[in-house]
Amino acid sequence: MANGSWTTQARCVLPSSSAVNWASLLMGAGPTEHGYTEWDSKVPEIPSITKTSYGLFPGIFSVIRDQKKQAKTAIVYSWSGIGYLFEKEAVNIIVSGNDKDDFCTDTTVAIIKREKPYFTFLHLDEPDGTGHSIGHRTLAYYKQLELVDQRIGKIVKAVNDAGIADETVILVTADHGGKGRGHGVNRLMKCRSRGLSQALAFVKTTN
Ligand SMILES: [Zn+2]
Repeated sequence: MANGSWTTQARCVLPSSSAVNWASLLMGAGPTEHGYTEWDSKVPEIPSITKTSYGLFPGIFSVIRDQKKQAKTAIVYSWSGIGYLFEKEAVNIIVSGNDKDDFCTDTTVAIIKREKPYFTFLHLDEPDGTGHSIGHRTLAYYKQLELVDQRIGKIVKAVNDAGIADETVILVTADHGGKGRGHGVNRLMKCRSRGLSQALAFVKTTN
């Protein structure tokens, strides 16, 4: 954080739950445009306002594929629900991690070192799982945050080891906030990243 920009005031889109917000992060638009409105949406409940030739609302992967044909891209995701929210044919490397955050992290480290992708998306399930099963802002939840921090540290080290740190931007964000074991009601708490739930790292290189 010392070398970057950060805020505890970022807001998610409503409703504050997973697929809605991951779709918004990956597609750069809100639910009234992309149409995913539930925590576990697999298809848009509202017809997407537009679609690409890949059959989905345009997302980061098809934008990269259209603009940089040779760019290598990768996505590694712990929660299977991510698998419905991006254009598979537009991505070079796809790994579904079956809720195993350490596997997802180690796999991403290997991909970064071996492939040096132009764009990498890593989804980690924690601390969302613990937030929902034990409670947000509990000791167990903060313990998971420590583990997330260690995983992000591995990604940062991989970027350094790959020799691409000077041309890489790493973005870390949550998809939604939480209160108790739930997503909260429609109040500010749940749309602020301070009560962060799932975490992920984007890695983007300039070459
Ligand atoms: Zn959640």
